[in-house]
Amino acid sequence: MAESNAETIYDVVVIGGGPAGYTAAIRGAEYGLKVALIDASPRLGGTCLHVGCIPTKALLFNAEIWEHVQDGAEFGITGIGTPALDWAAVLKRKNDIITKHVKGLEFLMRKHKIAVVAGFGRLTGPAHHPSDEVPSPGAPGQDGVHTVDVEKDGAKSQVKAKNVIVATGSAAKLLPGLKADDRILTNIEILEMSAPPKSLVVIGAGAVGVEFASIFRSFGTEVTILEFLPRLVPVEDEEISKELARVFRKRGIETNVGAKVEKVEKTADGVRVSYTDANGKPQVKEAEKVLVAVGRAGLTSDIGIEKTKVELDRGLVKVGEAQETAEPGIYAIGDIVAGLPQLAHVGAMSGLVAMAKIAGKHYRPVRRDRIPSCTYCEPQIGSAGLTEAQAKEEGHEVKVGKFPFAGNSKATIVGSHDGFVKVVADAKYGEILGVHIIGPQATELIAEAVAVMELEGTVDELMFTIHAHPTLTEALLDGYGAVEGMAINA
Ligand SMILES: Cc1cc2nc3c(=O)[nH]c(=O)nc-3n(C[C@H](O)[C@H](O)[C@H](O)COP(=O)(O)OP(=O)(O)OC[C@H]3O[C@@H](n4cnc5c(N)ncnc54)[C@H](O)[C@@H]3O)c2cc1C
Repeated sequence: MAESNAETIYDVVVIGGGPAGYTAAIRGAEYGLKVALIDASPRLGGTCLHVGCIPTKALLFNAEIWEHVQDGAEFGITGIGTPALDWAAVLKRKNDIITKHVKGLEFLMRKHKIAVVAGFGRLTGPAHHPSDEVPSPGAPGQDGVHTVDVEKDGAKSQVKAKNVIVATGSAAKLLPGLKADDRILTNIEILEMSAPPKSLVVIGAGAVGVEFASIFRSFGTEVTILEFLPRLVPVEDEEISKELARVFRKRGIETNVGAKVEKVEKTADGVRVSYTDANGKPQVKEAEKVLVAVGRAGLTSDIGIEKTKVELDRGLVKVGEAQETAEPGIYAIGDIVAGLPQLAHVGAMSGLVAMAKIAGKHYRPVRRDRIPSCTYCEPQIGSAGLTEAQAKEEGHEVKVGKFPFAGNSKATIVGSHDGFVKVVADAKYGEILGVHIIGPQATELIAEAVAVMELEGTVDELMFTIHAHPTLTEALLDGYGAVEGMAINA
């Protein structure tokens, strides 16, 4: 790892070493820029690596194997005896995966000679233009020098750079008056429980809520979801929400939508959640634990933003097409950005865009309608582009094709028949406007749809695009065909 040095003026300093920040830092080094990366945590990787994407997907994989083992006889696998769950081993595997990737990141920082500075970074104001005091070679088009204060264990230092990228990420929101502990959980505490709880109330049915609901249901927990809005995964196409609710109910997950949580209290050995149901009736649910998954707040306070012209919109940073803020030389990426979904791949791409702009290289702005949105519960959800309702609201004349996985041979082979592919296309030109998948490997399948939309593919072209047999991707081929009422397998 390159050492940071108070005299060095970096081309770029990145504040925050999550997927947005470390991706930007690496790309900066690849462009030949001198980069420093400040992180307040003892280990790089941010929410995504430590308490987000990676540990949850590790547990979901355990859950999948666990369910397969239970169904072993169906696949002709017998003689295993009664399977038992060694939760300590489950957690160890998750933690080992995290550690392996932390080491990988440390290696990449060394490889790219990125100066990693441990501590909490704060902006100190606009760039200083030291025309004669400080020489300013380096990145094209930049001549001011920014100073970032860094605090670690009470000791203070400074990092100077011509550009600053802020990538401080987000933290779970809690309901008013609540504090996380070993019974009132956020995404952090739930990943360290000593055993799966007997019962769990999940408040919030966005991606985080339904993933944890799915994981713990697989491990035998009695799960109840309380969602304020009228449907699960409310940002998805309505038919996806309906199908998820149907399959979750079949899996024994109790789902309550239109439920307004009024109070969360601790009981002698658990929690009591009082809520008003969709019919306006007061209800109470007791459980061993409650997970609060009601969204994430951008970490934009106490980082010196008020000393700059950087503008906020409800706590998130307003940026332009190159992730630039209103303060020259300061950029924002990842979960702190207003108007973009809080996803690791969006953060990473926004970092690549900012760094390309700083280096004077070609870039394409992040397009909101070209983002794969993935929820890794069982059944998985992968979507991109406009929902049917959004396409209509935008004034498109819309044609829709739907193909159920029940008609796909690979889905039969893997024993996963729930769900469907839904294709939303423009009726006049056949351009694909949105693809919504719920079912096996939906989070992998959606990559094709994003590429198709990037290339402005049409139904006509895709109906003649060969998809291998037998694969789940054939469900997409049938989905495109269904737009014209010409699916083969349904
Ligand atoms: C349970 C859960 C599951 C998720 N699953 C997925 C998924 O499967 N796929 C997906 O795409 N997204 C997922 N997400 C979202 C994803 O984790 C975030 O979108 C992503 O981590 C955001 O990246 P970031 O770099 O902006 O911020 P973060 O990952 O939050 O990283 C911010 C970093 O900045 C550091 N920092 C903060 N303040 C300062 C400061 N002042 N000075 C120095 N350092 C600072 C922090 O220590 C941290 O390392 C999930 C989130 C959760 C909670």
